[in-house]
This record gives sequence, C-alpha cells and structure tokens, in this order.
Amino acid sequence: LFSDRDPLLEGLNPPQRDAVTYRGPALLIVAGAGSGKTRVLTHRIASLLESKEAWPSQILAITFTNKAAGEMRERVEQLVGERAKGMWISTFHSACVRILRREADHFGFTKSFTIYDSGDVRALMKRLVKEHEAETFGLTPAGVQSRISKLKNELQDAESHARQANMSDPAERVFSEIFHDYQRQLRKANAFDFDDLLAQTVYLFRAFPDVADKYRRRFTHILVDEYQDTNHAQYQLIRELTKPVQGESMDLGGGMLAIMPEDEPQGASLTVVGDSDQSIYAFRGADIRNITEFERDFPGAKVVLLEQNYRSSQNILDAANSVIRNNFDRKDKKLWTSEGEGAPVIGFTGYSQHDEAQFIADEIDSIRRKGVDYSEMAVFYRTNSQSRALEEIFIRSAIPYRIMGGTKFYDRAEIKDALAYLVAVVNPADELAVRRILNKPKRGIGAVTETNIARFAVDNDISFRDAIAHGAAIGLGPKIRGALDQLDAVLREAQAILLPEGEDAKPTSVTEGLQVLLNKSGYLDTLRRSRDPQDEARVENLDELVAVTREFARNNPEGTIVDFLTEVALVADSDDLDDSSGTVSLMTLHTAKGLEFDTVFLTGVEEDLIPHRIAAGEPGGPQEERRLFYVGITRARKRLYLSLAMTRAQFGEVSAAMPSRFLQEIPAGLIDWRQSPGDVNGRGGTQSRALNANRPRENRWGVKPLEKKAPSAALSEFTNRVTGKVRDNGDLELAAGDRVRHDDFGEGTVDQVTGIGAKRIAHVRFDEVGPKKLLIKVAPIEKI
Ligand code: ATP
Ligand code: MG
Repeated sequence: LFSDRDPLLEGLNPPQRDAVTYRGPALLIVAGAGSGKTRVLTHRIASLLESKEAWPSQILAITFTNKAAGEMRERVEQLVGERAKGMWISTFHSACVRILRREADHFGFTKSFTIYDSGDVRALMKRLVKEHEAETFGLTPAGVQSRISKLKNELQDAESHARQANMSDPAERVFSEIFHDYQRQLRKANAFDFDDLLAQTVYLFRAFPDVADKYRRRFTHILVDEYQDTNHAQYQLIRELTKPVQGESMDLGGGMLAIMPEDEPQGASLTVVGDSDQSIYAFRGADIRNITEFERDFPGAKVVLLEQNYRSSQNILDAANSVIRNNFDRKDKKLWTSEGEGAPVIGFTGYSQHDEAQFIADEIDSIRRKGVDYSEMAVFYRTNSQSRALEEIFIRSAIPYRIMGGTKFYDRAEIKDALAYLVAVVNPADELAVRRILNKPKRGIGAVTETNIARFAVDNDISFRDAIAHGAAIGLGPKIRGALDQLDAVLREAQAILLPEGEDAKPTSVTEGLQVLLNKSGYLDTLRRSRDPQDEARVENLDELVAVTREFARNNPEGTIVDFLTEVALVADSDDLDDSSGTVSLMTLHTAKGLEFDTVFLTGVEEDLIPHRIAAGEPGGPQEERRLFYVGITRARKRLYLSLAMTRAQFGEVSAAMPSRFLQEIPAGLIDWRQSPGDVNGRGGTQSRALNANRPRENRWGVKPLEKKAPSAALSEFTNRVTGKVRDNGDLELAAGDRVRHDDFGEGTVDQVTGIGAKRIAHVRFDEVGPKKLLIKVAPIEKI
C-alpha cells in the first residue's frame, strides 16, 4: 500500500511510519514531548485521504484548542490540498456544539441555543446561591460552580447526584436543590454551559440510538490528540462514537422495537496520541487512566512508541528528563535527540518581578538582534496575574507582545454587552442576556422595574424578553415605558436583519445587525459622549468586534448569526483574534501545551507559584505541577531560561520568595546562573528596600540605569540558595558590642551570644527594626 518514497512518509522515522500506515480498529501512540505525535496524526489523516480510504467527511479529528485545530487543518491541506475541506477537525467542544445544534429538537432546545461561559455561569450561580440562602451552609457561588462542573465531567446530572447524595446533610440538600434549579434555568434560557456540551451529547447518543448511529455511520476514522487530558465525559463520547452501528430500530407499534442488524458491525477506527507526563488537567477532571488503560478498553489495540525528540537540544531534554523522573508513578521513557547539546539552560535570579521582567526584555532584545523573530519567543508563567509586570516592562522596552488567553477580548464588559444584544435577538429565551442589556445604556430602569417585568413574565407565562413590550400592562411610568418600547423596537429591527423570515440572511447580516444594535440602542453614542478615556478604548474594542464580524463573513459566506455566536463562544484560552507574527507570546503554562518556540522564558520558578500553593497541598498536586513544569521546559527548541525573583508582590502583598523545589531536580551543571546586575535604577526597588534597609532610597523604579553595581549580599545569598550553595557562618566570631550588617534588617549591635557550636545565637539590637535573635550559622549577616 505504501512505498518508502511516498511523500507522506518521507522525513518520518520508522516507528512514525508505522503509526501513519497501520490499519486496524485501535491505535495508541504514546511518546514524550516533541517526538512527533501531532505530526504523525496529521500525516495519518493525509494518508487516509490520499489513499481514498476515507472521505474528508468521514474523519473526525479532535485537538485540544481551536488554534491547534486550525494548524492541523492547514498542515493537512499542505499535504493533500483542497481535499481537506469538509473534515471535522475541532475541539471536543466544537464538535459537540455542531452535533447539538443539529439535534437540538430531540431534547427540547432550539438550534440557536446560547453557550454560557464561566462568567455567565458565575452570574447565574450568584443569584441561585443567594436565593437558596446557601451561604449559611458554607456554599459559595465559585464552590458550587466548580463542583457542578466536576460532576458533569463525571457524567453525573442533578438527578443521579441527588440519588447518591446524603440528603440528611442540609448543605448537601441545598447543593442538590441549586444543581436542579441551575439546570432548570439553563433549559429555560435555551442555554448550555461548557460542561453540558459534552455531557448532553453523550446523553443524546444514549437516549437516541438512531441519532448515535447516524454519527457512527458518518465517522469511520476518529483521531484524538492530547488524549492524556481527556476527562470521563470525553472518554465516554469517544466510546459512544466508536461503537459499531447498533442497527435500524423499527417501531412495530405497541411500544415494540425490532432491531435490524447492519451489514458491517464494525466501529470506527480510533487513533489516540498522548503523553501521560503531560497530563495537566486533572483539576478539570482529566483522567490519566484513559491513556494507561487504553489497551484494556480497546483490546487488540496496536501501540507505537516514539522515542526520538525532534524539537529540543539535548541540554533542554536533559533538564526536562531530570525533573519528570521525580514523579514516582510513571513509566520511564527514554527521549533522545540528534540535535546536539545546544546552549546551556540559563538561570536568572532578580530582586523582584520587575527586575526579572527587565532581564527578559533585555535578553529578548539581544536575541532579536541575532536575527530571531519575536514570534519565535515565548514567556510562560503559572498564573495570569504574573503577566502584568512583564507587560509593563515590555511596553517600556517597546517589545511587541501579545497575551494568549488572558486578555480575553471577549471577557471585556463592552464586548459582552454587544454579544448580549445579539443573543437577545437570536435566543430571546436567554433571560440573562436580556437582563444584561436592559439598562445598558442607562435607560432609567432600576432593580424594581426589572423585578416587575420578571413578575409580569411569570404571571402571564411569557418570556422576560416578550414582557418588555408590555410596559403599560405592567403599570410602568411613561418615561420607562418609552425606553422599553424603544429597546423592543431596536431588537425587532435587528431581528429582521439577522433572522429574516422565510429567506436566508445576507452574508453581511451579522455586521449590519450588530451595527443597528449598537447604534440605535444608544450604546455607542453614550460611550462616545463620555469623557472617560476608558470609554474611548471601549469604542475601539467595539469597532474591533465589528471588524471580527466582517472577517467572519469573509471566511464563512454562508455563516449565520448562530455560527458566529458559536465561534465566539468557543474561542478557547490559547486562541486569539490576530495572528502571532512579529510579537512575543505571553501565556500560562497550561496554554503552552502542544506549542513550540525557539526561545522560552519560564518565569516565576518559585515555591507557591510552581508548584502552585493551592496544588502543593492536594493529593497528586505536586506531581501534576511537575508535569506542568515539564510541559513548559519541553516547549523550547534552542534556548531555555528559568527565572525567579527574590521578592514578589502577589496576592496583594510583597513577600520573600523561595526557589521552586523543581530547580533542585535539575543537575547544577546544566544551568548557567546569572544574577541581576543590580538595582541601580531601582528595579524591584521598593520591594528589595523593604528587605534591605541599606539600599539607597533615592532610586525610583523606572529611572534609566546609570551604572551597574554588583548584586547585593541579599541577592547573592538568594542565588546561593537557589544554586545549592547555602551560606555557612559557622566560623564567624561574634561577641557583645560587635557591629553586624544583616541583609534584611540592616545594621545593629550584638547584645550577647548564647549557645554553643552550630547552635550559637546572636541577640542583636538592630538600628531600625529593634532586637532580633539569629542563628549565626545560617543568618545572612556579616561583621562590620
Ligand atoms: P508535544 O508532546 O509537545 O505535543 P509532539 O509529540 O506532538 O509534541 P510534534 O509537535 O508533532 O511533537 O513535533 C515536534 C517537532 O518535531 C515539530 O517541529 C515537528 O515538525 C518535528 N518533527 C517531528 N517528527 C519529525 C521528523 N521525523 N523529522 C523532522 N522533524 C520532525
Ligand atoms: Mg503535540
């Protein structure tokens, strides 16, 4: 079937070729980072198409992000051309939305259902927690939200949960009521949350075997990337889809069904690729067992191992391997590369996160001068809030950057308002959306009016949206009535454009509809009239949204408003509007999965950040954090930087940082350590001054550096701790009356020395901070 000269096999190593050419019901490709898993998947799809074993429409490929899906589609197109169109390459969520929209009438939804993101869910949850007075039982909106999410990922719904819950516990009872109520509200709003998209698709397939059969017949080849991060619902979805066609059911009347067997009782062929060392979504219900037990679940599955890494230099791989080796519950993998040693990993210790950011900016600048494009560099951090310091310095240093995920264009209030206007037109049952725009712009409609409208809707069994048009019957004053009538008219006008009756909408309808809503509602005018510079930025963002609708129309000439809203709702963390050319990418470690860059800066390598302080205390937490760290390291092709700061302003306070335990796991010889050249320009000034009273006070952050000083004793001490060279003052002779300088406390006079040997304690009266007792052996002090 294949010759080695086949262009699809060229440039693949033997096990990779195996993985591309194997034909059978189930194939598992397990391999470490950068070994070509995604590449093999892409070539496999291309080879199925090329050999005509499958039509594009028979292929379902699942990736972890929309961005990855786009890249895979592009690569397949490069390999086989236009033919690639018509394939489903998407995330689990997008695939489920497509299925649910088509089948919406099976379970009483309409195809224009809304998708609630976690912000929408939170808003609804806040209301429910309040209504049920659940706070008295220690329930919080965030807590309830995450628990419901977990249950749904385990395919537990409100009913099945209620059956198992201990209802004699009042907190459990209230939780269960909220869960029920929440689902009722979603249904009423014709809305799904993200977890529902998966779970409801599984329920749909189970409840309607002929619907399931339709998709089983359609998809003969299913391929899943990043399989280690699938959760139970996703796993069950795959199981449903790969079952053999169950057969036609024929209604014989009287509730009797006859099953007509099919000719081919064979399920779809399934290919999954993954790396259990990169499983980083357990907190979202990902189950590593999906990969470790694949062979049991799919008997006769072929397993291919890939061991050659094509991404990173040996030094980077060695660092990655030496870290991940510390996870006790894993099979050891041998990853090797023919790339050569490469540059050493560079470590950096700075005074503060500003200092760290400045170092990174300087390095980016110098790497850029060597001819490396900005888009080949990435900066990773554990938590979103760490990006701020980096952004500040990057802006000052004129380094073009963009944040992947995190900026959340679609999370901005004005964008959510604009989308709520669209949703109010398309899915009027979505009360949350209608309530959101009720008084935006300000129409003089307060909480009392809102409640009255809601009550009228309930009393008359109509939707909140429809109740708006009944201002007179509700008994509202003329001014408010006028405002509501105007809102009603605007929504209707947009409806005629977005959803014209009896004909297809124009390709430009989304843009036009949005413009009508923004202009005629007065929303834009209000922002334009405002003197607030923030509002100016909001107008620009709305312009950008209009531009997005234009681009959508260009890319999807037949796309409807529902398609547009789906696309927007599914824009996942790592996805962004604009392309990445010419900018440095900033992102969290989670977002970095699957990507690769020439140069990677892994920042904030400190205890409490990585491992994160919450995860560190949870069962399995430190292991998962180590995998996350491993994912970060293995994104780098040529240059890897690990940086940390001595102090960090976080959680609203400045605190002394501790080097991450993971640093100790990398052999010292692999890292070339550097220290901040000094805090001359006050880089990290305020923070480091807090720790060192001796440092000059006149230096303010932001002043250009004039000279470079040697690192302070405190930083050297910190660096020593990081690199394992801990200070030992064991021999320091001290007596009452001696003057000492302490890195943190400044200068002071020794009152007395007690204890003996390694346990000698100096009682020091510091000039600024008063008396302290210090263990001489390890204290950062010197005699002056
Ligand atoms: P991750 O675990 O991070 O998702 P992966 O196993 O999916 O990694 P890929 O992204 O497919 O790895 O490949 C890593 C890099 O190595 C890519 O740049 C890819 O093009 C390249 N590569 C893979 N196989 C080969 C090969 N046989 N020859 C040359 N380059 C290869
Ligand atoms: Mg990959």
